[in-house]
Amino acid sequence: MTRGRRWCVAALAVALLAGGCTSDDDGPFRPGAADVGDPYVPGAGNGGYDVGHYALKVRYEPADDRLTGEAVLTATATKALSRFQLDLAGLTVDRVRVDGAPAKHRRDGAELVVTPEHGLPVGQRFTVDVTYGGVPHPLPSAELGDGGFQATPDGAIALGQPESASTWYPVNDHPSDKATYDIEVTVPDGLAALSNGVPKGKQSTGGWTTWRWSEGSPMASYLSTLVIGDYRVATGTHAGKPIVTAVAAALPADGPAAASVARTGEIVDFLAGRFGPYPFDAYGGIAVADDRIRYALETQSRPVYGPGFFRGTRPNTEVVAHELAHQWFGDSVSVARWSDLWLNEGFATYAEWLWAEHDGGRTVERAFADRYAVTDWSKPTVDPGRAAMFGDAVYQRGALAVHALRRAVGDATFFRILSGWLAERRDGTATTADFIGYAERTAGKPLRALFDAWLVGATAPALP
Ligand SMILES: [Zn+2]
Repeated sequence: MTRGRRWCVAALAVALLAGGCTSDDDGPFRPGAADVGDPYVPGAGNGGYDVGHYALKVRYEPADDRLTGEAVLTATATKALSRFQLDLAGLTVDRVRVDGAPAKHRRDGAELVVTPEHGLPVGQRFTVDVTYGGVPHPLPSAELGDGGFQATPDGAIALGQPESASTWYPVNDHPSDKATYDIEVTVPDGLAALSNGVPKGKQSTGGWTTWRWSEGSPMASYLSTLVIGDYRVATGTHAGKPIVTAVAAALPADGPAAASVARTGEIVDFLAGRFGPYPFDAYGGIAVADDRIRYALETQSRPVYGPGFFRGTRPNTEVVAHELAHQWFGDSVSVARWSDLWLNEGFATYAEWLWAEHDGGRTVERAFADRYAVTDWSKPTVDPGRAAMFGDAVYQRGALAVHALRRAVGDATFFRILSGWLAERRDGTATTADFIGYAERTAGKPLRALFDAWLVGATAPALP
């Protein structure tokens, strides 16, 4: 995530309804938990099962803003379940089947509570098939403007961090449960329907076109996206993999957004030279024109850029470098809990410094010194609090900590830590303690005091 430049942070937390969890007598089976216990997103995610795959089919009609969908989740019970919950904000559920058999279901705020006919033993693989529909609504977020599904004059954009997916499909909405995806989007002929991963073709019939996408690497739900509307779509190949970029038709074809997104392949290659192989099967980027999208987000394999990054005439490749760096830091290796967001944002901000230096701009040492001089050390990088999760301490102080590590261990060891960490944790999740432990093992020396000082110490640390 990169925030827009004219930014206003309001200190309000999103309060979602947490589903209740009663103690019926269910024999050996128990209800799955109503959330994953992440205080940054109360109510989000669920316990008791792990989703492996989402097969989504959605149809959207911009004329009346109606979405109809079918979601088939393939999951595994991680405990003996009498019932379980999915996150689904708004929308009406028509039918739920578990392993093909009708299942009882009810809504509890932004939760869909599913009671299968029979309990699910621990370790059991099962499918949940949900048909649903209605007029989607975004989730209010004080920090970033609305997140989730938003209708636009020419279509819709589903996007947002830390939550957005539950506004357009039933989901275990927390990065600790990553899954692969097949996404089919049907829209009126003439509109583009963009999403994550490898393009699997499109087909028109009866005035509607179905666009198919497939994300074969595990993806955190907030990294899924849907962008529907009037776009100039370019499809090609980069380094042997498909690259799909799209620029809103409302933006100039030769303007800064188009010029910036056009450098996606070049920037990915630069980052791969520092971080190791690009982790996904497709590349891309989407520049939207809707002013309500006041940020850029690292949606997996295809980041989305708000129009505020491309005012004026000059390209902005630093935001592209930031979102592409997230493909490694954030998307391939995801946070297990939101309080460790600096593991995404500190490294993505540092990648902006690396790219700027490479592209003839400010050196990394200069960026480090400039930022060091203005940093408020009273604000912690790790567990900054929900209202500060997108604050400077997470982004800029996080990048300072990354560079402090580089100075402490030297260039060769530093880049060996980054690429080794990314390879070891690929497609998984991690915590700050995991990263520090990996860095110490690779460097062969204790680094905890260094990280403590740079990440959470209350005074300016000595330069290593
Ligand atoms: Zn970011």
